[in-house]
Amino acid sequence: MVPDTALPSAPDVSFPELPEALRAAFEAQPEDAVRARLEGFVALTLQRLRAPTSGPMPPPVPARTVALTFDGPLPDQGQPVEHILADIAAHVMPHGRDKRAPTWFAQLDVPPTDISVFSGLLIRALAQDPITFSSARSGTFVEQQVLRWLTSLAFPDTPTAGGCFTSGGTQSNFQALLLLRNHCLLRAGADVNALGLFEALTRTGHRGMRVFASEASHPSIFAAVRQLGLGDAGLHRLPADGEDRVSLEALEAALAGARREGHLPAVVVLTAGTSGVGAVDPLRAGMRLAREYGALVHVDAAHGSMLLFSQRHQGLLDGLQDADTVTLDPHKVLGLNAPLGGLLVRDARLLTLLGKSSLGYFVAGEVADLGEVTLDGSRALNSLGAWLLLRHFGRDGYGRLVDHLFALAADFTRRLRESGLFELFPEAPAMNLLAFRLVPKARGPRPGDLARENARNEALLSRLLEGRRFAASCYRHASGRLYLRAVFINPASRPEHMAALADALIQLGREAE
Ligand SMILES: *Cc1c(COP(=O)(O)O)cnc(C)c1O
Repeated sequence: MVPDTALPSAPDVSFPELPEALRAAFEAQPEDAVRARLEGFVALTLQRLRAPTSGPMPPPVPARTVALTFDGPLPDQGQPVEHILADIAAHVMPHGRDKRAPTWFAQLDVPPTDISVFSGLLIRALAQDPITFSSARSGTFVEQQVLRWLTSLAFPDTPTAGGCFTSGGTQSNFQALLLLRNHCLLRAGADVNALGLFEALTRTGHRGMRVFASEASHPSIFAAVRQLGLGDAGLHRLPADGEDRVSLEALEAALAGARREGHLPAVVVLTAGTSGVGAVDPLRAGMRLAREYGALVHVDAAHGSMLLFSQRHQGLLDGLQDADTVTLDPHKVLGLNAPLGGLLVRDARLLTLLGKSSLGYFVAGEVADLGEVTLDGSRALNSLGAWLLLRHFGRDGYGRLVDHLFALAADFTRRLRESGLFELFPEAPAMNLLAFRLVPKARGPRPGDLARENARNEALLSRLLEGRRFAASCYRHASGRLYLRAVFINPASRPEHMAALADALIQLGREAE
């Protein structure tokens, strides 16, 4: 027997107690205590949601002044929440632009409803992470149901279809092109995930691969082609027609040229609702050409997917159901106000080409881990917000909202056209946005005209913004022409707001004569 004295005496460990405030922050608290902490947040949220949204916007504070408020060092000691909330009220809230204003015509996202805002709180409180089934449980099924709903809109009667959620349209476009690049090489007998791009391409006997996209495509398409290792040389940037739709003649010539030169015609990208002017590429004809040359097809419908809800306007997306991949953007289209992009695919097997395998932190169950098909790792269950909104408004509700936005665009277009002061691009908007510029002073090309005309329109936009009653934006066409751009995206906007915007522009246009 070993005598006790042979054992080393236990070291004196005093367990470090957490300070009360730190512990309380993580421990479950009685309802009253939670409610008291919640109140401060509710008060600011109410202030924001109640804020009058149709008066003039607050005068812009110089960026430098705002920046100075936020240049202090990381605090050593924690501060009470009330102090921090007071700072948010004083220094953050006054400077945020209010997208909920019915006179906000600058961006493509439907502004959040109050329930979108509240769903954000609930999503944080539930803290279900759809990366694995173990960390999400019911969240996995919520997410899959929303994906089924969206898939049934984009790919009706297609049992093989599937999809995944991303952080937004940019990431959906990137992931779509990544999957299609891999698929197209795999079809030709080379597995990029095993061989790497260079070796895979060499094995197929091609000199390179080509992606085809109109110059009016979203910049994220051009960036994705670079990020995928194809470089600018791997992209055929196709000219657009007089309505900013891809030129089919140019597409056919580029496809034929690529094949002739020994390149693999990989992916044709079509856009349903360009971010510039809402142009919808000829989907059926573009797809027919792509198929003729063996190319896969991605449709960027980040914005245009809103048409899927509308009985009246969904015909514009005819042909979408034959695409290989589709980008749609629930965070823009549904008024969600939390990062949620959708990538839908006609054949769900495509999703597995991402090259990700199971995380292995949890024992694999019988239910799929959604993290295996997303570029993201840990993320919030933002699809719960989409689920709530889609159930609350229904397909019909969203359809009516879309019809309302289109009617606003038509109303504004008529007013502007009747003034005779503006040149519209296109003549009739395809969707709920429009580009326009002052009718050029001198017809016919003369050196310096472009810069002079652009300067006139830039000045007009600046003066409109200085009035602080409206927010609009601009669109630089591939020709270099600068247009003003108005997006009709807020269901709270009404014909009187169209009249007010048109009147303001006409007034400024007359002054610019
Ligand atoms: C907005 C938009 C994107 C990018 O989407 P994000 O959600 O901002 O990343 C891509 N394509 C089109 C056509 C868009 O309108």
